[in-house]
Amino acid sequence: MGEDRKSGRFFVYINFTTFRLTDFPTFGLTTYLRAMSDKRVRVRFAPSPTGGLHLGGVRTALFNYLFAKKNNGDFILRIEDTDQTRYVEGAEQYIIDCLNWCGIPPDESPVNGGQYGPYRQSERKSLYRQYAEKLVMDGHAYYAFDTAEDLERHRKEVPNFQYGHAYRKSLRNSIALPQHEVDALLEAHTPHVIRLKVPEDRSVSFTDMIRGRVTFETNQVDDKVLLKADGMPTYHLAVVVDDYLMKITHAFRGEEWLPSAPVHLLLWDYLGWKADMPQWAHLPLILKPDGHGKLSKRDGARLGFPVYALDWADKATGIITEGFKGMGFLPQAFVNFLATLGWNDGTGQEVFSLDELMQKFSLERISKAGARFDFEKAKWYNAEWIKMQKAESLKPYVQQVLEDKATVINNEDYLLTVIDLIKDRCVLLTDFYVQAGYFFEAPAVYDLVSVKPKWTDEKTTFFKLFKDILAGGQLNAADMEAKFKALAEEKGLKTGDVMLPLRIMLVGGKFGPHVFDIAALLGNQETINRIDKALAEFAN
Ligand code: GLU
Repeated sequence: MGEDRKSGRFFVYINFTTFRLTDFPTFGLTTYLRAMSDKRVRVRFAPSPTGGLHLGGVRTALFNYLFAKKNNGDFILRIEDTDQTRYVEGAEQYIIDCLNWCGIPPDESPVNGGQYGPYRQSERKSLYRQYAEKLVMDGHAYYAFDTAEDLERHRKEVPNFQYGHAYRKSLRNSIALPQHEVDALLEAHTPHVIRLKVPEDRSVSFTDMIRGRVTFETNQVDDKVLLKADGMPTYHLAVVVDDYLMKITHAFRGEEWLPSAPVHLLLWDYLGWKADMPQWAHLPLILKPDGHGKLSKRDGARLGFPVYALDWADKATGIITEGFKGMGFLPQAFVNFLATLGWNDGTGQEVFSLDELMQKFSLERISKAGARFDFEKAKWYNAEWIKMQKAESLKPYVQQVLEDKATVINNEDYLLTVIDLIKDRCVLLTDFYVQAGYFFEAPAVYDLVSVKPKWTDEKTTFFKLFKDILAGGQLNAADMEAKFKALAEEKGLKTGDVMLPLRIMLVGGKFGPHVFDIAALLGNQETINRIDKALAEFAN
């Protein structure tokens, strides 16, 4: 979408064609929402199971969900699998798993049906023909017998060939051919499709919940296929029929579907359902980190960040693409991050729980401009969400991380205390092992460069005496620190000169929480063992 600054009009660039979005004053959102208020709000997320669900798809699902829940409505998952050539096994289950992980499960779906099923378009195949035939009867659609080769030839011969008003009369269809020929072709079961007869010289408009009044010139729209030769509807027919039959009141979908809107508008009109047309909201694109162009699945691999919610295993290639979950994201952080891609509450607040999002979500605060994807920001959200968790609720995730490293912890309290000590330092859940590994096994390597050059016999003596203190009985962190400092003073050493070595003895490097918190949690005996082990290396 571009903006013509001189005229102040907006343009949408689609396939080298420009559609004009007319200027409009602040749109009457409240007015039409009020008009809809007697209807139960029903929204749908309608993905095609063609592979891993890109995070843009999850955001579309989320915005639908938030709108539905804010309005006490229903969130429906409809699987749009009419294009069998693009169908990918496992993709539907993956979509359901993603929604569940995010905590936004559908109220109606192929696996938990409602009264408007089936929820898979392939299972609704028999429904669609009658509507396509009705459109033919009413003169709004026609049979087209052109073969793939015919069309290929036209594309080669005619620059910018478009199957539409300009050419349809010279092609093989029921508008161009005499009736008896059409009858004969149909009787002979000649393969054919049904195409929409897009009118000439008309403007069609609708009010988008985000963009306001949007107008399209029909001369730019081709005669889209509605029903394919195999009897399957195309997306255009199926989406309109199903939104109608499933009583959808609002639909949030990506901006990339805006060019399809005129086709859908004509269908809603021609099928006589205009009054029931859902309110559409075309969500802003999610842009690459540099802000140039739409974020693609390939960008993730190229730039080293996930674009899927969950790991996606491509059965055809055997390649597994890591998702946000696998990388160590909490679902709360992922959802929070997604919500801010194109929406904010206007107050500067950044951290929102799903419940809060449900209350605060508002159409007015969805931006028209594309939202730049920023992985560093996503990680920031995750760190914030990890910090806010109680140790108990992080335990399952941390246990999983430890199990992956073949570490099993049986002491619950110990694990919970470690989590509390470490959680503020973790950006990803997987950081727990890096940050807390020394709580489960003594360091194998030490940052010797930081201690050896400055090592003295006095320091060796100091640590031997400190061990004797520890051997005297269990101490809490504060007492241990007091005794450590007193001993340093007595021996004429600066606390700092022995504190860093103690840290390196216990954790291996210059990191981690307060060193006496670590020592107290490890316990006196383990602390003594680690001092012994390290002294052997520091002092020779
Ligand atoms: N099946 C379309 C998709 O894959 C749905 C578009 C729409 O919501 O109308 O995204």
